[in-house]
Amino acid sequence: MLGSFMMDLITRAPRRPVAGETLIGTGFSQHLGGKGLNQAVAAARSGAHVRMIGAVGDDDYGRQFLQRLDDERIDGARVMTTARGTGVGLPLVEPGGENSIVVVPRANLAITPEDVRAAASMLQSSDVVLLQQELPLDAIAEAARIAHDAGVTVMLNPAPVLEGTRGLSGLVDILVPNEPEARSLTNDPSGTAEAVGKALLDEWDLGRVVLTLGPAGALVVDRDGATPVRAHAVDAVDTVGAGDAFCGSLAAGLARGDEFPSAVRYANVAAALSVTRAGGADSVPTYAEVSELMSG
Ligand code: ADP
Repeated sequence: MLGSFMMDLITRAPRRPVAGETLIGTGFSQHLGGKGLNQAVAAARSGAHVRMIGAVGDDDYGRQFLQRLDDERIDGARVMTTARGTGVGLPLVEPGGENSIVVVPRANLAITPEDVRAAASMLQSSDVVLLQQELPLDAIAEAARIAHDAGVTVMLNPAPVLEGTRGLSGLVDILVPNEPEARSLTNDPSGTAEAVGKALLDEWDLGRVVLTLGPAGALVVDRDGATPVRAHAVDAVDTVGAGDAFCGSLAAGLARGDEFPSAVRYANVAAALSVTRAGGADSVPTYAEVSELMSG
């Protein structure tokens, strides 16, 4: 896994301030996040042996991330500590739940293709390499190329979509976008989710696309057709990080040798459980919790 670390500093306020205004907020909380950390924790709690490549700053936030990796039994030997500060995410949440977010990636932007090459043997000896896009695209591309050339399954969660993301086509086996991401990555964005999935399969030369559809579940598209997976019914409390829970759990399922349809069913239930709890990485369930729900 190559991924990001962002300390989320969440502010609640009655509304967004206008230019030049100071506004009194109503709440504040701080969570360890970033799509990389969230997905790594999801995979680890699903029983995978996770090894992570990434970068934090030489500061208190960075130390908190390294401690969290230890606590979750994630191998952080390839997580660099850089002179740039740890990445931060600054969401402002309005009373209706509407978000506006500033993300300052800082240390996450320090990762270079050379750093990735230094960890090549780790990527080559993995069952699945899981990637997202809160890092420099050239480093992501290098990880995809190394894994692809070694015959390792490459899974990409193309979030956020970057200019140049399409350059990764041909290196990815499984693409896991949400619906807006899926539409922005095809030449033919206007059709049904199934049509978009099929277009992505061809344009990207993929083995599979898994479109995540929020409360509507997911849609798996491969050469045999499209298979909908209905969402597991839950009372949603906080959908932040649902996609991360889904991607990390799916990668873990595949790494432990599950057939694709059962790995997707597992991820779908894990993601549903995560939306019943607040937080990103904090809200991710364990293998035991997901299994219990699936067998019940
Ligand atoms: P993202 O967080 O990346 O936008 P989605 O919103 O598509 O991703 O959610 C990812 C997955 O989380 C879905 O495919 C589904 O399995 C699960 N999920 C999301 N919202 C709900 C919900 N309200 N109820 C049950 N499952 C949900």
